[in-house]
Amino acid sequence: MKPSFKALLESSHLYGGNATFIEELYDQYLENPKSVAEPWRDFFDRMQGEGLRDRSHQPVIESFRRRDGGAQVVVRTAGEMDARAAEKQAAVLRLINAWRVRGHQKAKIDPLDLKQELHEPPPRDLDPLFHHLTEQDMETVFNTGSLVAPERMKLRDIIDFCVEVYGGTIGAEYMHITRTPEKRWIQARLEGSRAKLELDSGRRKALLERLTAAEGLERYLHSKYVGQKRFSLEGGESLIPMLDEMLQRAGSHGIKETALGMAHRGRLNVLVNILGKSPRDLFEEFEGKKKKENGKGSGDVKYHMGFSSDMETAGGRLHLALGFNPSHLEIINPVIEGSVRARQQRRSDHTGKQVLPILIHGDAAFAGQGVVMETLQMSNTRGYTTGGTVHIVINNQVGFTTSNPVDSRSTFHCTEVAKMVQAPIFHVNGDDPEAVLFITQLALDYRMEFGKDVVIDLVCYRRHGHNEADEPSATQPMMYKIIRQRPTTRQLYAESLIEDGVIDKADVEKMVTDYRDTLDAGKLAARGIVPSQPSEFSVDWTPYLGHEWSDEGDTSVDASRLRQLADKLLDLPEGLELHPRVARIYSDRRKMAAGAAPADWGFAETMAYASLLTEGYPVRLSGQDCGRGTFFHRHAVLHNQKDGVGYIPLQNLAEDQAHFIVIDSLLSEEAVMGFEYGFATADPHSLVIWEGQFGDFANGAQVVIDQFISSGESKWGRLCGLALFLPHGFEGQGPEHSSARLERYLQLCAEYNMQVCVPTTPAQIFHLIRRQVVRKYRKPLVVMTPKSLLRHKLAISSLEELTSGQYQVIIDEIDDIDAAKVRRVVLCAGKVYYDLLEARRSSEIDDVAIVRMEQLYPFPREALVKLMKRYPNAKEAVWCQEEPRNQGSWYQQRHHYKICIGNKRKLYYAGRNASASPAVGSFAEHAAQQQRLVEKALAGKFDTAE
Ligand code: AMP
Repeated sequence: MKPSFKALLESSHLYGGNATFIEELYDQYLENPKSVAEPWRDFFDRMQGEGLRDRSHQPVIESFRRRDGGAQVVVRTAGEMDARAAEKQAAVLRLINAWRVRGHQKAKIDPLDLKQELHEPPPRDLDPLFHHLTEQDMETVFNTGSLVAPERMKLRDIIDFCVEVYGGTIGAEYMHITRTPEKRWIQARLEGSRAKLELDSGRRKALLERLTAAEGLERYLHSKYVGQKRFSLEGGESLIPMLDEMLQRAGSHGIKETALGMAHRGRLNVLVNILGKSPRDLFEEFEGKKKKENGKGSGDVKYHMGFSSDMETAGGRLHLALGFNPSHLEIINPVIEGSVRARQQRRSDHTGKQVLPILIHGDAAFAGQGVVMETLQMSNTRGYTTGGTVHIVINNQVGFTTSNPVDSRSTFHCTEVAKMVQAPIFHVNGDDPEAVLFITQLALDYRMEFGKDVVIDLVCYRRHGHNEADEPSATQPMMYKIIRQRPTTRQLYAESLIEDGVIDKADVEKMVTDYRDTLDAGKLAARGIVPSQPSEFSVDWTPYLGHEWSDEGDTSVDASRLRQLADKLLDLPEGLELHPRVARIYSDRRKMAAGAAPADWGFAETMAYASLLTEGYPVRLSGQDCGRGTFFHRHAVLHNQKDGVGYIPLQNLAEDQAHFIVIDSLLSEEAVMGFEYGFATADPHSLVIWEGQFGDFANGAQVVIDQFISSGESKWGRLCGLALFLPHGFEGQGPEHSSARLERYLQLCAEYNMQVCVPTTPAQIFHLIRRQVVRKYRKPLVVMTPKSLLRHKLAISSLEELTSGQYQVIIDEIDDIDAAKVRRVVLCAGKVYYDLLEARRSSEIDDVAIVRMEQLYPFPREALVKLMKRYPNAKEAVWCQEEPRNQGSWYQQRHHYKICIGNKRKLYYAGRNASASPAVGSFAEHAAQQQRLVEKALAGKFDTAE
């Protein structure tokens, strides 16, 4: 009996694609064997002769259609065919993989479909042909590998599946993640649901309602406050349902607090529609009627303002805090992270399960600003992690006012930088609000599951220009032609709901008018907001309000307590083998604790921390090399020479001591200082210190200093007790390592906004550190910390100086000089004091008094006036500084000195000449300059008074 064609087909799993062709051929052969081409005839002959056999022995065929239309037959052995099958199967798996890896490059994520070519060839490997899979393979059933789908599917269906999941309105990037469980988790969520959210009609209506709110607010403001800047959200309205969903879901995850950071675009919308800012308050701001919160300071524009509220969620109450933000877009990132870390510490939330950071970025800023990378780099480090951040990019595809993506980045997407921390990135078309919700849930769940950063790139557009007075078509004519013709996200979604019979036109109109009525009535427009304030979650800042810089605080510590603390600090665990140099420092500290040697800087500083920790004040010391101290003086972390394991004596003082962390930061200034500012503004109880390796490295964080530290209270009423430790002093180390740029800080000082101090003794740093938290006065503190003074033989203190007294803002002459004989008072600050002292002693000058200004701001005028009275016969005063004349404190402070010394005395300057660079490179030249300025101060002849 002739074998049936079906039997023939079933004998080989490879025939699928060619079935029809071979069937026809076989029928032809049966009718007339000569009518088929020779190779086929041979094959069919053989097949008939041998009959159908066990598959493994079966000769099999493969046919090709030649280019000229003729057929060609290749007969292969079963072994060969298995290899072919394996090859095809492998090709299918490669195709699946290509979709997973590169689908996002082809996905329809841009509502404007601008097809902006960006630095990458089109993803050819998404084409089956690239993998030698042809139309003939489409009906073949293949194994789907790890695809979260039926185990075996036809190639055609596999491709449809991939296109649906990876080529639709979501572009998922996660294949760069090296941890397989994370990848599998994402695949399960994306593929397992075919990247779709099943929403019932109630949820779909609610979604439309939030889109209506987002659009409604902008329309309302647009018509009421014509031409006023508001940095509207229009084009990116999906942000509102996204945030609404995220916060509600965060509550269900057990999150209790969320700190949000965002720049100005869409901020008013988020304030009103998410955080529950009263529309009436906003309108008053537009109308210029709103008063400053405490009637003081400069205030700020409305789209920089922060806000706090509580929201009711299915999982309980959630506190929301939107950070105050300057115009420097991404700088808010580390500030929010620091604020979150403080909140987590307060709640003993070590895994980030209770406090969630959400950062909202702009596309060009996310791609362009270095602080984004720095903040991401912190995300998984011991001292700075917050258990993962949800990043949302409002990607309106224009940077600044007019920059196209092709000019504003070198990467394909604007989010590439997040890959460095293996964050998954989900691009989503802002005009598909359901996809937006799907991705919102996925992203948040990922963060909660893995404690890592995740990015949502909300691809949208800007309906107006950079602001509402702008004319965007002047520079982006093609883009705006499309935008002007495009219905809004709300309109598109409303149409789709009408089409699906979920809602009718009248309902849609009603939603619009209801929202407008809400605004007209000035009622809250956000969902679930609990109107009562203050929040049960907030810190009470009221005890810190209304203090003066001159308030005193008890910063002395009992001798017996100091001794006990020193005992604890020096009681090191068995087996801890110290490096010999560190061992010497610790054995010296033993002598200092016993009063057998004077206290040095490292000892006094450590005792200040120890005393605070045991009084219940947490201490956070973060910065560059700060575990050891740049100049080897601190050694807050002891590294066992046997195994490298660190031991931190300050964490082992007492069971009930407060939290201590000392952490060597990543090599960033901007993000780390921003982080510490954020921490300090969320926690008035802790002592928070940022330390630079050399003081001038703080230059890299100038935005944090200008926009937050010096002006945050004035603009936003936010207190901050952050201390900056900036090693400063002209030691001949060249232009870069000499100056902490004191002049810059002094220039920023006004309205008692911060404190600038230059302590010169161990006792002074002890009292200064303690003063910063023991007093309830929360102001930033900038400290010019020393380098050579850490070990200077004269820069020492007795134990009694720690057990009594307080921080002295001015230190008068310490030598036994007859005040009545003094004809000149030399005023100075910092290390130069010791040069002056030594020079005067060695020259045996007895008519010059040397006075140290230990606090330069707030300037202690009264104290200086009083001090000068002790020298009635001094005819002149000299300001002596190491810095060049145009730097240091001279230009910023000479008016104070003039007033304090009185009209009858002349004021002179002794210091380096004005200079473009802070210091010379040559040590010899430095030493000569230093000698000259000291000599001049003590004995110099001055041509002109200042
Ligand atoms: P938050 O937890 O950031 O939402 O803050 C809650 C409330 O505490 C705010 O509304 C302010 O009244 C107050 N507050 C928070 N931070 C500060 C600060 N740094 N200085 C003064 N008051 C603050």
